[in-house]
Amino acid sequence: MLADRATKLTPPTRNDVRTYKGIAASPGIAIGRAVIIERREASVFRVPIREEEVASEVNRFLEALEKTRDELGELAQKVRRSMGEEYASIFDAHAMMVSDPSFADKVQQKIESEQVNAEWALAEVQEELQARFASFDDSYLRERVADVKDVADRVQTNLQGIAHHDLSEITHDVVILADDLTPSDTIHFNRRPIVGFASETGGRTSHTSIIAKSLFIPAVIGVARLTKMIDNDEMVIVDGYEGTLIVNPTQAMIAEYQSRVLRHEEAERKLLENRPLPAITKDNHQLTLQANIELVEELKDAVRFGAEGIGLYRSEFLYISKSPLLPTEEEHLQLYGALAEALAPRECVIRTFDLGGKKLAREVIGVREDNPVLGLRGLRLCMKHRDMFRTQLRALLRASTHGNIKIMFPLVTGVQEIRQVKTLIREIKSELDDEGLEYNNDLKVGIMVEVPSAAVIADILAKEVDFFAIGTNDLIQYSLAIDRANESVSYLYEPLHPALLRLIKNILDAGKAAGIPVSMCGEMAADPIYAVVLIGLGLEIFSMNPSSIPIIKNIVRSVRYRDCRRIAEMALQKRTAQEIEEFVIESVAMRFPEGLINKTV
Ligand code: PEP
Ligand code: MG
Repeated sequence: MLADRATKLTPPTRNDVRTYKGIAASPGIAIGRAVIIERREASVFRVPIREEEVASEVNRFLEALEKTRDELGELAQKVRRSMGEEYASIFDAHAMMVSDPSFADKVQQKIESEQVNAEWALAEVQEELQARFASFDDSYLRERVADVKDVADRVQTNLQGIAHHDLSEITHDVVILADDLTPSDTIHFNRRPIVGFASETGGRTSHTSIIAKSLFIPAVIGVARLTKMIDNDEMVIVDGYEGTLIVNPTQAMIAEYQSRVLRHEEAERKLLENRPLPAITKDNHQLTLQANIELVEELKDAVRFGAEGIGLYRSEFLYISKSPLLPTEEEHLQLYGALAEALAPRECVIRTFDLGGKKLAREVIGVREDNPVLGLRGLRLCMKHRDMFRTQLRALLRASTHGNIKIMFPLVTGVQEIRQVKTLIREIKSELDDEGLEYNNDLKVGIMVEVPSAAVIADILAKEVDFFAIGTNDLIQYSLAIDRANESVSYLYEPLHPALLRLIKNILDAGKAAGIPVSMCGEMAADPIYAVVLIGLGLEIFSMNPSSIPIIKNIVRSVRYRDCRRIAEMALQKRTAQEIEEFVIESVAMRFPEGLINKTV
């Protein structure tokens, strides 16, 4: 029975043209051969075994251990050659963990004493070990939870006979088709010639989609049963504009898509001509367009597309790229200092780690949460893992002398959290004073307004901070109760929902009354139709993925503020998102030049 579970069916090769519909996650067209990746964690079931099966079950476990040890040894060698000793030592340490007799003995004892399958025994021991490490006071030991998980997952994979795919093994141009992709998987895609990807899970504003856009990788998500319906090596076109996958296209189809790529490139070149021009409406209302970035390498894109500063640097991607190691204070400092210097005198808003939720929740916290999106995430996670947070805050304060840095905190729900973090900053400042280290005492501190509670009490919060940034990706998730990474509810993603417009208006009005700047860095700010409404509601700072800047600048320069205000006023009177969208599209078509609302360039 156990052997049966390990058998995987390979579907027969097909030659017919097939089209699959998903969600357009990242614009662009990619053509390449499919590489299927199945990486969702397999469920582990408890299977009782007979006494005479115990010995062979123990053997099965020991074989999986041996295989894992060999794999880790090879991996350490590979990493040593490509990245150096520091990184290789992580995998050496993992290999040692596999060789530790107490780990193997514990699993073996469980199989024998409870007469259960090896997978179950391993999962139980893994949980015990993770809980033990998580309970240590010493932060170094606590952080080893991620290593235990990594090692145990590898053994589990080998045990279950599921091929362990390592993305680093891919060396030729391919389209990745996966059941599930994490933001950290996606971030590695830029290092190889991966031309596009598609996945079964995900939402339009999931971080996997956001990263795909940042890396200019065409992507389609939410394609049901994708990995079961497409075979390795089949030719695939990823249409990231329409959200479709075309499998086994004809030569004529490939030619048509190739010419579409050229048309898009031409349109993009034309739009980029507005790069040196200011983001100003026809009736002289001045706006600021900034960039969201996740990786330092994106800075050049921000400059290329004409960003006036960085409105959101998602610093957690520094953590993700270093994981399982924590970035040191010097690493933080070097990065933030370099960003600030490159941008000065323009501002660079650095958001402190927004980990948790779907971003490494388990690895950081060490335990599984039933509702990670409502659990330890953002500022609350950082306040709990205080050593990690202090390191980041010390570096941010020290980097503040290098340029125009602002600090921003994610997932704030009320005044108390802000007061606590401000106390922490004061403590760190006096620590730096004692050490004779410099910082900008006037460093501005702001918050993401991305939870309904914060949006509703924006007038109160505005008295506590120097600026607001509206995070519509989460504000929509939390106010409309839709998991932003769940493809099944993505049809409910409605940025023009009347509730959303009212919340946004409330935040903008509160910011204005208190005299603090309010920006928007959620994906909503990068959409031409929504931009018209947002301008009308009074938003003056838009921050978005760099490549959207020329599109939004084109909108700004084509409209009149006066008209946008009127459109926003009317939109606020409507009852549904659909009514609002229809009304806005109609108004734009009537008042402004043709082609203005073509979202795909
Ligand atoms: C948001 O929530 O809108 C936002 C900009 O932050 P993130 O997408 O990283 O959660
Ligand atoms: Mg957010």
